[in-house]
Amino acid sequence: MLLLDLTAESTLPPVGRLQARAAGAYLGLAVGDALGATVEFLIPREIQEQYGVHRELIGGGWLKLRKGQVTDDTEMSLALGKAILGARAVAAEPIAVAFSSWMKSKPVDIGNTVRRGIAHYRQTGETQVPESENDAGNGACMRSLPIALFTLGADAEAVATANRIQSHTTHHNALGDAGTFTVIRMVQSALTGGTRSDLKALAEALVEHEPKYRYDRRRMENPGGFLVETLKAVFQSLFATDCFEGALIDVVNRGGDADTTGAILGMIAGALYGPEEIPKRWIAALDQKMADACTAQAGALIALSPQCRGE
Ligand code: MG
Ligand code: MG
Repeated sequence: MLLLDLTAESTLPPVGRLQARAAGAYLGLAVGDALGATVEFLIPREIQEQYGVHRELIGGGWLKLRKGQVTDDTEMSLALGKAILGARAVAAEPIAVAFSSWMKSKPVDIGNTVRRGIAHYRQTGETQVPESENDAGNGACMRSLPIALFTLGADAEAVATANRIQSHTTHHNALGDAGTFTVIRMVQSALTGGTRSDLKALAEALVEHEPKYRYDRRRMENPGGFLVETLKAVFQSLFATDCFEGALIDVVNRGGDADTTGAILGMIAGALYGPEEIPKRWIAALDQKMADACTAQAGALIALSPQCRGE
């Protein structure tokens, strides 16, 4: 495991601080995935009846998970990150190959759009799917953390291009691209010291550009797999709370696609609040191999970023 003194963050040099925040984002993603998966597809009233407030990593759920087990959200992120590290670039072919071999590993869960995109690659050799109205699902956003880490410090256009390359292997939709790009920028802002209001400004800019993402009206409960619904729930929870634990509990108890709202909120909040704010009981409950893989990959990806290479 990559050794990080998570308790002495403020005394670490800037690169060490970045490494710690990057690990926080990755562990936040995994913890959010594992916490939310227990209540995925339940509605808030069912969660309330079964758990009161759902706040522990206990596994179960419709996927019958082991305690602390993650799902496709974390696994696809690791597959994407591995492809980027292997190529030392965000390149479509290695990403498509990585996703295809991940699908072959018989994952515990896989989204329909992801399955279709990988099948398209296997059948045609094309690494990008055609643009589709139906591709604004959250499956490209949930795995976007490696892009945020690897492109930290790059200009916005380069980040947007990298995002499109990874997203379009399975999801090709402008509304989806805009939402995912915003999540990546929020993580990058948080990694480099951005505050909750800086992140809010990024969410507002998204709403300005794509008004469907407007999140300040009705409380989003039972968010589905449509990225607009997912991000409305994530933004509402993130901006209505002031700590990692509170934000994550708030979002997963909305039910619906709870592992994915948990994963996306977890990566943003992990970067924002830092790894030391992730409850120890959650880190301890995570599958240890998975936690080590997340921490190691976070460190490797951020080390290759323009920010860390001084470019
Ligand atoms: Mg999942
Ligand atoms: Mg999900």
